[in-house]
Amino acid sequence: MLTPAQPSPSPVIPSANVRLQAENLHKTFTLHNQGGVTLPVLAGVSLTVAAGDCVALQGPSGSGKSTLMRALYANYRIDCGSIWVRHQGEWVDLPQLEPHHLIAVRQTTLGYVSQFLRVIPRVPALAVAAEPLMRLGVEESAAHDKIRQLFSRLHLPERLWNLSPTTFSGGEKQRVNIARAFAVDYPVLLLDEPTSALDAANRQVVIELMAERRAQGCALVGIFHDDEVRSRVCNRVLTFGGDN
Ligand code: ADP
Ligand code: MG
Repeated sequence: MLTPAQPSPSPVIPSANVRLQAENLHKTFTLHNQGGVTLPVLAGVSLTVAAGDCVALQGPSGSGKSTLMRALYANYRIDCGSIWVRHQGEWVDLPQLEPHHLIAVRQTTLGYVSQFLRVIPRVPALAVAAEPLMRLGVEESAAHDKIRQLFSRLHLPERLWNLSPTTFSGGEKQRVNIARAFAVDYPVLLLDEPTSALDAANRQVVIELMAERRAQGCALVGIFHDDEVRSRVCNRVLTFGGDN
């Protein structure tokens, strides 16, 4: 049963360096079309991520990693808890934000590499990836230049750049998604299996991109299916049990 999140007066912030602090998150799914069965997935999860941190969410399939990731992006409404994000010098609690404020936080502060690219027929890959930059007011030519650089780094064949990603392979779509998110300098970046469909060479590029972001002070949280990515880029692990 969902209950409204209770407002928290202010976050308990341990250090000025912290970019994201999730406190005591609970999330239970209620399957209304299956006899109202309830699935408690997050039960009191807390997480503090500072500038330059990269935290890996680790645990068996079905243990709640993606649910936490979607909750951190405020895609899923949590039952209770707070998700404090430092947005333009101020602390905001995501579950409490009005929709327009949440959109502003997502445009400038909180980036998200989802597992799957949402494709729109007839919109070319360049435009799909440049969209977040354009929304920030970056000129089209500058935005496209930045995306071309990222596409090149990610070895996306140039002949694909002006085509809609509708017909792209899984790995090609994933690289468009990665370029889209890494084009903007988000202070906080969430990544849900960003390398799951990539070959070894492109996995290395993503490892380098993440390491560069860490060095610039970005706070990253990710789900990584392979150990190499985890061990090379992450400095902390949050482990989920099978019964969380
Ligand atoms: P992981 O990413 O660790 O594999 P998930 O967070 O995707 O796990 O899922 C955790 C549990 O929550 C699973 O048992 C899954 O079936 C359930 N779940 C996830 N999303 C939903 C949803 N939208 N509605 C109902 N149950 C869900
Ligand atoms: Mg998952």
